[in-house]
Amino acid sequence: MKIPLVDLHAQYLSIKAEIDQAIEDTIQNTAFIGGNAVQEFEREFAQLIGTRHCIGCANGTDAIEILLQAMGIGKGDEVIVPAISWISTSEAVSTVGAKPVFVDVEEQYFTIDPTLIESKITACTRAIIPVHLYGHPANMDEIMRIAQKHNLLVLEDCAQAHLAEWGGKKIGTWGDAASFSFFPGKNLGAYGDAGGMITNEDKIARRARLIANHGQEGKHNHLIEGRNSRLDGLQSAILNVKLPFLEGWTAARIQKAAYYNSNLPKSNLKLPKIHHQAKSVFHLYVIRTPERDGLMQFLKEKGIACAVHYPEALPFLTCYADLERKAGDFPVAHSAVREILSIPLYPELSKPQMDFIVDSINKYFKR
Ligand SMILES: *Cc1c(COP(=O)(O)O)cnc(C)c1O
Repeated sequence: MKIPLVDLHAQYLSIKAEIDQAIEDTIQNTAFIGGNAVQEFEREFAQLIGTRHCIGCANGTDAIEILLQAMGIGKGDEVIVPAISWISTSEAVSTVGAKPVFVDVEEQYFTIDPTLIESKITACTRAIIPVHLYGHPANMDEIMRIAQKHNLLVLEDCAQAHLAEWGGKKIGTWGDAASFSFFPGKNLGAYGDAGGMITNEDKIARRARLIANHGQEGKHNHLIEGRNSRLDGLQSAILNVKLPFLEGWTAARIQKAAYYNSNLPKSNLKLPKIHHQAKSVFHLYVIRTPERDGLMQFLKEKGIACAVHYPEALPFLTCYADLERKAGDFPVAHSAVREILSIPLYPELSKPQMDFIVDSINKYFKR
């Protein structure tokens, strides 16, 4: 049985008529940049998450960058980021001229460890970027408490966590602003690159919108120099078709994760834990074992796609070699990335597929 890590084609087939119509309408109306579909998406997404503003942009990396700029962060500033994430989180900090300062993650949830944040705060620290990794929220109670105490901004990286909640409150509404990615494989994915920024702060929203569109307020009225990072019409039209399905798809992910949690062998694997304050939306289902490489090879031979998110912790990437970091500086992240494995989890995954995956994993440990 061949099982992909995510099945975007199966999802397309389930909504094909509406998607095809939306694409045709966009082309018929030549609504390629700006237009009703973009406005509709921004309005609906803001409403779904429960924030005043949503500003579409070209991708989730730009969303982090633009929000940092909109919050006035740049040269000479330090921004605290977790030691495990996709590189965008730290990369965006460097792109705006600030310095990413890494903090190790929690052993149980792989999100930034709040107990280690304060020791990394200096006079230059301006913000914290918690990442709700794999769809599991970071500990927002503790992060907000630390941010308030030290007068820091909080930018939530929600690229993997659409509709996740902490303490019954949606992630993305805890901090000063939040970034989303609509990369095709994310929980809400476009058919190309796309991103969004949300905030309740009018000032941040206005500035982010200016920056994303060449600093223009109205045509040719350039108040500042910005850049070109727009959410385009085709991607908005596709996202508008998909948005009403997001809650159902999220529920399916959670249900399938629960099935794995009760059927995978706990004696051989560490299975994902959910903090009692958290609603995880399982962007990825990540298991942990010292036999990771062997298991991955075995599953691949059975036709089961799996992957490692991510094979190296951020501080140990070549691009950060000048940090002269040692394994002991980020012990949790450094050992976790050598043992983690993402196995297929997506809304369209069938029970026979899941049973095949469970059986295959059991076979590996009984071999
Ligand atoms: C995907 C992702 C991003 C970047 O999103 P793009 O749309 O690919 O630029 C940022 N942060 C995290 C945690 C991500 O997973």
